[in-house]
Amino acid sequence: MFISETKHTARKAHRCDYCRGTIPAGTSYLNISGKWQGDFYSARGHTDCRDLWLALYDEYADHGEGMAFDLPEVISDLVSPQEAQESLDAQRGYFPHAVNRLEWSLRRWLADDDAEGGAHV
Ligand SMILES: [Zn+2]
Repeated sequence: MFISETKHTARKAHRCDYCRGTIPAGTSYLNISGKWQGDFYSARGHTDCRDLWLALYDEYADHGEGMAFDLPEVISDLVSPQEAQESLDAQRGYFPHAVNRLEWSLRRWLADDDAEGGAHV
C-alpha cells in the first residue's frame, strides 16, 4: 500500500473531487494517488478539502471500505441534513473555506427539512 500527495499549481480550472467546487487557474491544489485493496486511485482537490476529508474520516468512513472522495455524496448518504449541518459546523473553525464550498454543493439538500440520509445529491 502506498499513497502520494503532490502539490501543483493549476494551469487551467479543475473540479475538486472532494467538494465539487472549482479549483481556479493559478491556485494550488493537491494530487493524491495511491493503492487501496489492490486498486489504484487518484484524486485532485483543494488542499483544505483534503484536510476536511481527513477530519471527517473517523465520523463517516466505513472501516472495511474506506470513504469516497466525494464529500457531498458521502455525507448525504449517511446522515440527515440536520446531522450533517452539526458536523460541518464543528469543522467550520478549522476549514472555513472548505466547509463553505461543501455547503454550497449541498445547499438544496441541507435546506430540505424532510430529507433523510440515503439521498444521493
Ligand atoms: Zn474542494
